[in-house]
Amino acid sequence: MGENIAFIGLGAMGGPMAQNIIRKGTKVSVYDIDKTKMDPIIEVGGTPGRNIKETIENADIIITMLPSTENVKSVMTDNDGVLSFVKPNAIILDMSTIAPTGTDEIYRLCKESNLQFIDAPVGRLVSHAISGDSLFMVGCDNEEAFKKIEPLLNAMGTTIIRCGKVGSGIRAKVVNNFQILSIAQITAEALTLAQKIGLDLDVFKEVNAGTTANNGQFHINFLSKVLKNDIEPGFTIDLAHKDMGLAIETANSFRVGLPVGSAVQAVYGQARSGKFAKKDFSALLDYACELAEIDPPRVKKS
Ligand code: NAD
Repeated sequence: MGENIAFIGLGAMGGPMAQNIIRKGTKVSVYDIDKTKMDPIIEVGGTPGRNIKETIENADIIITMLPSTENVKSVMTDNDGVLSFVKPNAIILDMSTIAPTGTDEIYRLCKESNLQFIDAPVGRLVSHAISGDSLFMVGCDNEEAFKKIEPLLNAMGTTIIRCGKVGSGIRAKVVNNFQILSIAQITAEALTLAQKIGLDLDVFKEVNAGTTANNGQFHINFLSKVLKNDIEPGFTIDLAHKDMGLAIETANSFRVGLPVGSAVQAVYGQARSGKFAKKDFSALLDYACELAEIDPPRVKKS
């Protein structure tokens, strides 16, 4: 594509997403505060920026894939941040999972600077980001701007869901992650109980798959990660705790109670106080088994 692209935040998700755009023959300038994250992207043809100014000053589309609301705000609004150097009429495409109120504020600032802003947080796992099979929840009511980012989304994923106006993508993401992360904890508790009372994992897997207890956390996520003895992230327990916090904070500001969600967030909070903080969120199972003082279950054949 003819547009100049800048990509900021090259972690577990942003790294493979940027690589997939570059592999389609698009020129991308890239930046991460952790220089080691830039190396694999430079290897496949990304142009490294030494700072945000150098990375974005010629960009028509600037993509951010950063951990938290604070990170996105700082990358955008600091004196040496995006808004200080961006070209007029550029499009800012934030794909991070952040607080909807943060998205609304950044959208307002972009509008004041005559910039287009689109929120397009990402669904599915790191493995999908690597294979280019991600899902995007897009908040955008400007068709001209959407047409410009569409080829990039197609390079990074397979499923684009138009959620509505700016801010609706991040709202869908926060609610959907609330469900995913709560189901992960229920799955960890169920498998810990199954293990403690002596159920065979392969048999229980079959029973579960044949009933309405069947869920993607057990059969897709846990079976491809923790149950195969792989608890490297993936999606960290730290980020999961952040996302449960976003759901609870959003619910609180709209006077909606999330009693189960609050309990689940407390579990992520405890799990991140020790060695599991930077492990994959499926390691909730190992944390629960540790508390129950039993060996965690593992599939016999991978
Ligand atoms: P990550 O921690 O692996 O990567 C984030 C990257 O941002 C890091 O490389 C970090 O150095 C960089 N960074 C932080 N502050 C920066 C700054 N000021 N300037 C430049 N770079 C900066 O996180 P991730 O797993 O890639 O997740 C990124 C976002 O995507 C998060 O909001 C997360 O909730 C969301 N997400 C993650 C997954 C997943 O499975 N990992 C899936 C969907 C969505």
